[in-house]
Amino acid sequence: MATVELENISKVYPDGTSAVENISLNILDHEFVVLVGPSGCGKTTTLRMIAGLEDISSGTLKINGRLVNDVAPKDRDIAMVFQNYALYPHMSVYKNMAFSLEMRRRELGLSKAMIDQRVREVAKSLGLIAVLERKPRALSGGQRQRVALGRAIVRNPQAFLFDEPLSNLDAKLRVETRAEIKRLHLNLRTTTIYVTHDQEEAMTLGDRIVVMKDGVIQQCAPPLEVYQNPANRFVAGFVGVPPMNFLRGRLVDNEFFLFGNQRLGLPPNLAAVARAAGNTDFILGIRPELISPVAENRFKGVANVLNARISVIEPLGDRVDIRMSVMENVPMVCRTETHRTQGLAPGDEAAFYVALNQCHLFEDSPVGLNLSRPQTSEPTAVNSTR
Ligand code: ATP
Repeated sequence: MATVELENISKVYPDGTSAVENISLNILDHEFVVLVGPSGCGKTTTLRMIAGLEDISSGTLKINGRLVNDVAPKDRDIAMVFQNYALYPHMSVYKNMAFSLEMRRRELGLSKAMIDQRVREVAKSLGLIAVLERKPRALSGGQRQRVALGRAIVRNPQAFLFDEPLSNLDAKLRVETRAEIKRLHLNLRTTTIYVTHDQEEAMTLGDRIVVMKDGVIQQCAPPLEVYQNPANRFVAGFVGVPPMNFLRGRLVDNEFFLFGNQRLGLPPNLAAVARAAGNTDFILGIRPELISPVAENRFKGVANVLNARISVIEPLGDRVDIRMSVMENVPMVCRTETHRTQGLAPGDEAAFYVALNQCHLFEDSPVGLNLSRPQTSEPTAVNSTR
């Protein structure tokens, strides 16, 4: 088991690409931390630096308090599981799983019987006993991924590093294997660092999630904290499906949020935040589930109701997503209960209630800091305007 500390780590590739900028992160023993962000934000580079597969340009990396910047990957005692499984095609499942222990049998003081027992124990816990003699090509994608997991687990490493391990699986298997990884972590409690671009995977797996953009950490906090109190507009738009809606407008008469020819009455908490900010232009952030159609248009002009033109209605079974636009060209989406959409049709202009007391107010700037985020929230490393 291990702690992993990254201090002011940066990575510039030989061609001058700056992939990671000055990131600091303390990963606790037993913790499951997920690095999440869009393609190219530096997740894999960060993971590969921790694994020792990529040089660190500047900063320090410590595992269990030991400086490991220049320690070879094999001497870091961590196991990495890749998206493409990286199994040896000519070896059976058994041999794939036993390989790393057999290579270091003398060094680790293991007998063949001990290795056999370890491989079978892990294979049993992953439901692989029946396929131990098969070659990887005779396995399903899900089974291959479990062999890759098993191969990492038999080593009993200090930490697991996962690089998009579920990307090659179909949607159903992805959800099943995700649950399997969570179960394994609950049993083994091995410190885990997991990379994904999928915010749902990050939310369901992580004790903490680290949201990255352009090589910079935007927010690092438990999943619910990130969802409920996003540090800035980027995080707010990245975490949550459908994503948060953003309405650009300004504060008038100290309490109204004016956009186009409509206005919403800000609740006291948001009005106070807006007044304290000392400027008048803001972006209001509204989660789709905070919007619901109101039965009749007679609510038009009421302080917590906005008017929008419906473009598409998407039934999802238990819920419905209504895509619509306000001020002609600002797209918004509302997620509501099926029965609330009766009588509505694409093309209609309709009134929508907004639970304004749960909305967020962002700075109208490139970073878009969340001004309504409680002061008690964890500090973040948001320091970039890129
Ligand atoms: P993805 O989800 O697409 O894998 P990522 O968040 O893991 O993306 P990285 O693979 O870490 O991102 O890449 C970060 C940046 O570094 C990108 O701009 C990428 O093009 C660049 N990069 C990655 N590897 C190299 C390399 N060997 N040489 C130069 N630039 C690189």
